[in-house]
Order: sequence, then C-alpha cells, then structure tokens
Amino acid sequence: MAVQSKFLAPWLPLIMSGVVTLILTQLGLVSSLEPFAQRLLFQARGAQPWSEEIVLIKIDEASINALGWFPWQRDRYAQLLHQLTAAEVKTVAFNILFSEETDEDQAFAEAIEDHGQVLLASTWREDQSPWLPSPTLAKKAVAIGHMTQLEKTLPVTVEPHIDAYPALAIATAQTHQLNQGELGLLTFEQPLLAHWPGPINQLQQYSFIDVLEQRIPQGALQGKIALVGMTAAGFDPFTSPIESDLTASGIHLHAAILHSYLQQNFLHKPGQSWGILCLLLWGLGLRFGLSRLTEAKQLIALFIGLLIWPVLGVLSLSFNILLPISFPLLLLTITGFSLLLISNIRLHRINRKLQSKATTDALTGLKNRSFFNDYSAYIWRNSIREKQPICLIICDIDHFKQYNDTYGHLAGDACLSQVARNLQRAVYRTTDLVIRYGGEEFVILLPNSNLEQGCTIAQRIQFQLAQQAIPHKGSSTSDQVTLSFGIACITPSRRDRLMLLIDQADKVLYRAKHEGRDRYKAQQL
Ligand code: GH3
Ligand code: MG
Ligand code: MG
Repeated sequence: MAVQSKFLAPWLPLIMSGVVTLILTQLGLVSSLEPFAQRLLFQARGAQPWSEEIVLIKIDEASINALGWFPWQRDRYAQLLHQLTAAEVKTVAFNILFSEETDEDQAFAEAIEDHGQVLLASTWREDQSPWLPSPTLAKKAVAIGHMTQLEKTLPVTVEPHIDAYPALAIATAQTHQLNQGELGLLTFEQPLLAHWPGPINQLQQYSFIDVLEQRIPQGALQGKIALVGMTAAGFDPFTSPIESDLTASGIHLHAAILHSYLQQNFLHKPGQSWGILCLLLWGLGLRFGLSRLTEAKQLIALFIGLLIWPVLGVLSLSFNILLPISFPLLLLTITGFSLLLISNIRLHRINRKLQSKATTDALTGLKNRSFFNDYSAYIWRNSIREKQPICLIICDIDHFKQYNDTYGHLAGDACLSQVARNLQRAVYRTTDLVIRYGGEEFVILLPNSNLEQGCTIAQRIQFQLAQQAIPHKGSSTSDQVTLSFGIACITPSRRDRLMLLIDQADKVLYRAKHEGRDRYKAQQL
C-alpha cells in the first residue's frame, strides 16, 4: 500500500483534476459556458468596422408598418430592385424564400434580369428536399444560395456548401468577386466561423421602405453588395458574439460571413492534434513542474494561468484563431482545488501522526503522561458531575535497577514492553487508560470503578505475570519479575483535586514496597 501510494502520490493532482474536468465536460458544463466565454472574448477585443462594401436593406418594423404584414406581394421587391439598379448597387442577395409561383413573378423576374447580379435563397423542406425559388425567378437569378439553419448557440457556424448549394453569403461574395473581375475564388471545406467585427447597428443599413421611397443619400449604395432580409423583432432572432441580447437575425449572420469572406479573416479553431498536444504538455508540466513547487507558488502559477489564458484568447482573435476558453479555465480551477484538497489531506494526516506521536510512549506504545493529564482532567470532571468513583493504580516494577544490571539495558527495555502489554491486557473497558508514568512506573486510570474493581485488576496483572514467569535473578523478592501496586479510589466532589488521588496511590505503593513488594495496597478516600 505504501509503495503504491508513493507511486501514485505525484500523479494524484493530475488524475484528480483530469477526472473531475472530464466529468464536468461530459455533463455539458463546458459547452454551456463556452458561449458566455466567447462573448466576453469578443467584447474584450472591442468593435472593429464592418466592411464598407456591405449594405443591409432591412425589412424592419418601419417597413412592415408602412407596407403591411408579411409576406408582401412580389412587385414590392420588383420596385426595390428598380431602385437598387438605379442606385448602381453591384450585387443584391435576397435572404427571403420566394418559393410559390405568383402572378407578379413575371415583373419581379424582369427586374432581376434587368439588374443582372441578383442572388436568391433556397432552403430545405422537412423531408430534406431542396426548397427552391419559383422557376420563373430562379431562371433569372445569377446564383442561388442556401439560408443555413442556424445553431442558436455560439459559435454560430455556416455550412459552406450543402449538396449543390453554397451558403447565400458565400455565393454572394463569389458573385461579387467575379463581378469585380477578380478570379481565384476562395473554397471551403469546414463549417465557416464568422469573425464578427462589431455591433450589428454599426453595419451600413437602410430600411426597405426608405429605399423604396428614395430617402437614401445620393451615391450611398453605389458599387455595394446589398443584403435584403428580415430584421423585424420575432423572426428567428439569436445573440451575436458582440451584443448580449437577441437582436441578430439570419441576415446579420450572412453579413458577418460575407464580411469575413471579403476580409479573408474567417475564424479557425485549433485542431484536435493541437488540443492533444496542449493537454500532454499540461499533464507533464503539472506532474514534473507544478507539483514540485510549494503550495503557495502552485496557486500563484495557476492564478497567473487563469489571467493569461483569456488575454491569449483575445490576442489570438487578431490571428483569426478562436481559442477554447471555458475548458482551460475549468481545468486550471479544478487543478487548483485538487492541489489544495490533496495538500490539506496530507497536512491533516501529518498532524494526526504528530499528535499521536506526542501522546504515545515510543518504547511501550502506551499513552504517555501528557495524554494522561488531558484525559484524567476530563474523567475527573465527568465523575464529579455524575458522582461516580474513580480508581487509580500506580504500579512499579520491583528491583528494576537490578534487572538492568543483571540482563542489560536492552533486556530491561524488552521487559518494560512485556509488562506494558500485560497491563493493557488486564483492562477491558474502552474508557480504562493505561499509561507509562515514567521509568518503570505505570498508572492505570479506571473511571466509574470502585476500590474492589481496582484490586481485581491488580490481581489479574499479578496472575498474568506469574504465568509468564519472566526470570529476574537479581531480585531479592522473587526469582521472577514482580510488580508492586498502590491503589486509591475516590468519588470526587468539587473541592477535591486529582493530585490528591495520585498522592494517595503513591503513598500506598510505598507501603507495598516497604512491606516486601510483589503485592498491592489499597486505600479508599
Ligand atoms: P524498587 O523495587 O524500589 O522500585 O527498586 P527499583 O530498582 O525498581 O527502583 P529504582 O527507582 O531504584 O530504579 C528504577 C530503574 O529503572 C532505574 C532505571 O535504570 C530503570 N529504568 C527507568 N527507565 C528505564 C527504561 O526506559 N529502560 C530501562 N531498561 N530501564 C529503565
Ligand atoms: Mg520506580
Ligand atoms: Mg522499581
């Protein structure tokens, strides 16, 4: 066991913090904390400007109030497109599904064709079949992009392609790129993590109704990419990493993806192999570095780690890396608690060992005089309260100096131990106490016992010793080791003192010695 714990001890903080962190991660703590952590990260980084090229055309409350409840007839969009064409908007993407055929489709289709760079949106039905724009419109659109189902928790990601359909924002960005004569389209394999620049109200945006009624500054839309979509409250809202309320909607997510495409700053999470490497380094650092420091230094190191990691997280955003936050912080915190707990348990164990060492006689294993002082004071008070007798026996080995002289000091020690074992064997109650009082003198304290019971115990000891017949050639009393006993008993009152009982036992012990040893003398007080 000792060997095993010696081997295990240095690994204990690592094992303990690893297991607890794993359990908490499995219970979903990390995934539910991560969105908060990421929001704090983005907020700490602060706002950056949105791309100048993106403009939002919002179907907001003002537009709905002016034009009536949704869905609107298609000629509204045809009118919008005419305005956008006149304002020389470069690319237009509708984040709205125009799936059913309607009578106004022809006019809308003409407006789409007239502009020439219009993208329409698709989505998926519940049976996973594509839900496309009406064929009349689809034919005229320059491309069709899917409106991804959004994850409602951070980090919100978008699939770059689903089947034959790119994400609307990606299709829009690529159309715009080609439109500008730029080749070398970016392609993507992984889900896209938008690098949100700033609050959504800092994005250039105009109300649908304001565009329709030409209340837009001259030239404000020229050469821009216009994203048309719903922002009115209650339409699929979610919380962006910058704001802390439910104000963002699908159109904002597409704007963020489009922004990231144009700035080429999509966020990347470090891959799994980085995670494994970091955990490995952490494990080695904890086992061979941290666990060798003092407790205070360990905690300071962990605290510094807790401060540095979020700072690293914020800095990494500038390199388009999104570091996990809640897992490392949780791991650091739990490691701190594990280290504290383990050192506390160790301290407790050492304390107990020291305490027991301080109250035990090393040679005989009996309790010592220091323990007797505390214990007898407690028993004394109890006996006064409960009016119960206490019996105290002092016993002393006869001619022990002679024993040492005859057999040597080491044999004397062995003899002391054997006598001690006999004394301990002679008492049965858990409250009875046998101590080594000093040298070859022992005291037996018998709570709730009368003089007669004390004498019985002395007789029992004498009997045991006689049976063992430890030779003692140097004794003038017997040829075996013998003891003399002084027994005193009292039912103490508040006026009495324990010292009185000890003195009395000592006196009758002296009498026993005087009268020839190997006997007991008893005195009731
Ligand atoms: P009496 O019968 O009157 O008690 O005679 P005694 O020789 O036993 O008493 P005395 O007080 O003269 O001597 C006690 C001896 O006990 C002296 C000392 O060397 C021995 N002694 C005390 N402590 C130890 C110990 O821890 N180990 C050993 N081996 N001897 C001890
Ligand atoms: Mg003595
Ligand atoms: Mg003696």
